[in-house]
Amino acid sequence: MRTSENERLFQAARALLPGGVSSPVRAFGSVGGTPRFLVRGRGSRVWDADGNEYVDYVGSWGPLILGHAHPEVVRAVQETAAAGLSFGAPHPLEVALAEAARRVYPVLERLRFVNSGTEATMSALRVARGFTGRDHVLKFRGNYHGHADGLLVEAGSGALTFGRPSSAGVPEAYAGLTLVGSYNDPEALEAIFAEHGERIAAVIFEPVVGNAGVIPPRPDFLAALRRLTREYGALLVADEVMTGFRLAPGGATERYGLEPDLVTLGKILGGGLPAAAYGGRAEVMAQVAPEGPVYQAGTLSGNPLAMAAGLATLQALEREPEIYDRLEAYGARLQEGLAAALTAAGVPHTINRVGSMLTVFFTEGPVSGFETASKTDTAAFRRFFHALLEGGVYWPPSAYEAAFVSAAHGDEDLERTLAAARRAFA
Ligand code: PMP
Repeated sequence: MRTSENERLFQAARALLPGGVSSPVRAFGSVGGTPRFLVRGRGSRVWDADGNEYVDYVGSWGPLILGHAHPEVVRAVQETAAAGLSFGAPHPLEVALAEAARRVYPVLERLRFVNSGTEATMSALRVARGFTGRDHVLKFRGNYHGHADGLLVEAGSGALTFGRPSSAGVPEAYAGLTLVGSYNDPEALEAIFAEHGERIAAVIFEPVVGNAGVIPPRPDFLAALRRLTREYGALLVADEVMTGFRLAPGGATERYGLEPDLVTLGKILGGGLPAAAYGGRAEVMAQVAPEGPVYQAGTLSGNPLAMAAGLATLQALEREPEIYDRLEAYGARLQEGLAAALTAAGVPHTINRVGSMLTVFFTEGPVSGFETASKTDTAAFRRFFHALLEGGVYWPPSAYEAAFVSAAHGDEDLERTLAAARRAFA
């Protein structure tokens, strides 16, 4: 595989951008090798700067549930752009996208558009603090909620990958307001609430973890979250930036029958352009400026292009609900095929999958939380990753990420993926 143009670009990028990238995991830091500069995408496939073609399981880290350059999404963006890129004034597409989101998330009595998942979670917690008058928040080890100061504490994926569970530059006094619990452990949660319950403004959690690799929630953990937050007057914030519109039309909230006070959304909501949102109970969202005293704003928030891409994406999902069956079917075949290949090669593994999110852990498992996820053999993952890459398959370049299936993946993609996986440990 020729990669000279990727290499040349990476050299140039490193002289300009920290690590040569705009977001850490893209740099291939934990897997080694030259990151691919992706210049074109169509359906399930992407092409790099050397013209190599790959089956893509990153999907821009989740937004592209319909696949790359979906004609309806591209057309919506083009038509909207022709009428002006941004106005910094209310726009009809904000109303349309909010309505489309609420049709599948009835919990969104009110929502506010922002530009990234980070802004959504950061703002949701500010609202929760304003509403409750309390300062502490609780998150879970290995859950990632973006890079806001108070949430960059024992976070997953990028931070995990680089062996830095939290970040330099986060004041201890501030990080100290973040309590960290153990995911899928209702007894530990009970103990934290018994000790700190009266001080907790909000509990934020990934309803299916994607950022320590995929970890499904235990039903008794979900039940304990709702019961304890109600009992102690804390708000429950479901971070559905990754799972929203993916695990069902109404995300994990629908799939697991959750009753969060606030939900954060991103990725699919923007259809590949920067849009995210936080929202929930009207009474809580009444805190947000200009209605209430919690300030939060954004020059490009609700911008027409992102609203158009998100709306076109949600409309396609609404029109074709059978997409979710296709995602499930492809996900199941991918899981079975990879498991068969790894078993045949005698490689210890556990594959966790919920719908179209999947992680191969190179450990006997089961993987049910951060501690068990971190037992994955990262050297085995590197070998797997590079065999896939050489075989024309672009897998997430970290052992602690979810691979994403899109509606565009089909039989040929599966065959190519499994053939490359079989070669990895041959
Ligand atoms: N929350 C979750 C659950 C996420 O997966 C992510 C990003 N992967 C974020 C928040 C942050 O979103 P963004 O990268 O758009 O800031």
